[in-house]
Amino acid sequence: MTFNDLNLIPPILKALSLENYTSPTPIQEESIPAALAGRDILGCAQTGTGKTAAFSLPIIQLLSQQPGRTGGGKRIRSLILTPTRELALQIQENIQAYSKFTTIRSTAIVGGVSQKAQERALAIGADILIATPGRLIDLISQKRVDLQHVQILVLDEADRMLDMGFIHDVKRIIAKMPLKKQTLFFSATMPTEISQLVKTLLVNPVKIEI
Ligand code: AMP
Repeated sequence: MTFNDLNLIPPILKALSLENYTSPTPIQEESIPAALAGRDILGCAQTGTGKTAAFSLPIIQLLSQQPGRTGGGKRIRSLILTPTRELALQIQENIQAYSKFTTIRSTAIVGGVSQKAQERALAIGADILIATPGRLIDLISQKRVDLQHVQILVLDEADRMLDMGFIHDVKRIIAKMPLKKQTLFFSATMPTEISQLVKTLLVNPVKIEI
């Protein structure tokens, strides 16, 4: 199978060929068609499987096919929550590469660095926000982030967010988003608290195990 078989739009295909991706990984083969069809996804997969592109490519495509706002004043239409700063920056870098021939803008919100540049980026606006829970909660409390227009939510490494004590923050963040949304949920393991969250959050998900 090639990426051409997955009904991806030309600007994404062009970016993938620039990255020298020739064929999709197994998780990409399964998740891309399901996510493009608007389905929720429950994925059991580790980093290194191509998970980032598996959720990012459909988000970039779905959002570019809608009349988003161009230039400044963009609304956050997709939120990606991930446990660590390193993962957030890695995802942001990948999304920037995959979306370079589209009008989609993305930005990352992480702890451990000055908040000022992140405040400026939020004021300009982005279609896709990649965030770690702690810093995002701070910015939500300061009313610098509006999640009312989120249509696609990604929870990446949900079990690690639980281990790191972020589960309460994650639930508070979810409560700021519309109930009706598409959710792409990834976790390597399914402890009780995670499967409870899955039950409340996902609607008839496509289950993918790699
Ligand atoms: P991830 O599991 O998302 O962290 O991806 C692991 C690595 O594989 C990253 O360096 C990606 O750039 C790369 N990668 C992801 N998908 C593909 C693909 N279809 N072909 C080649 N490399 C890929």
